[in-house]
Amino acid sequence: MSNKVVISLGTNIEPRLLYLKNAVQSILDSNITIEDFSSIYETDPIGYEEQDNFLNMILIVKTSLNPYKLLELTQRIEIELERERLVRWGPRTIDLDMLLYNNEYENSDVLTIPHPRINERAFVLIPLYEIKSSLEDNQLSIINFENSLLRDEGVKIWKLKDGEGVLELFES
Ligand code: ATP
Ligand code: CA
Ligand code: CA
Repeated sequence: MSNKVVISLGTNIEPRLLYLKNAVQSILDSNITIEDFSSIYETDPIGYEEQDNFLNMILIVKTSLNPYKLLELTQRIEIELERERLVRWGPRTIDLDMLLYNNEYENSDVLTIPHPRINERAFVLIPLYEIKSSLEDNQLSIINFENSLLRDEGVKIWKLKDGEGVLELFES
């Protein structure tokens, strides 16, 4: 369980909260512990704007899976939740991105870590900022939070971390 990994979740097809819950439950059912999690944010779509708003949140997890095994797992969860890829950055039931894996770098056809767009996206940086105290220093040094604090429009808290909605995600 010694690897600390940051995963982002996104969904913009209803029932969005249920897709988040199913993804969290599938992660909990695997060889993974959730160490911290953000509030759920509602965010305006970016890249392809003719689609519904997203819910986004961040999980910080511990796992013994290597990065490729973890990618297999997250992709299996996406398939189970009927993720389809029709339009780049288009609507999706669930998107699981691996943002950081310890402070390691990986660059292959199927996996780039840190996630290449992590420092461009307020919908990633703002939830991550909320739980940055759970990151290692060597992970923090990879993140450029200033970017998000300049452009936080379109990223709003939807369910508070300690409130109803978020805590339900973790109840079986
Ligand atoms: P973006 O990557 O810009 O957030 P996206 O999430 O919509 O876009 P996907 O269609 O979900 O893109 O993923 C395309 C491919 O990205 C996946 O098949 C996967 O192999 C690859 N990939 C590379 N690095 C990562 C990573 N760190 N986390 C998740 N997938 C990754
Ligand atoms: Ca993504
Ligand atoms: Ca993805």
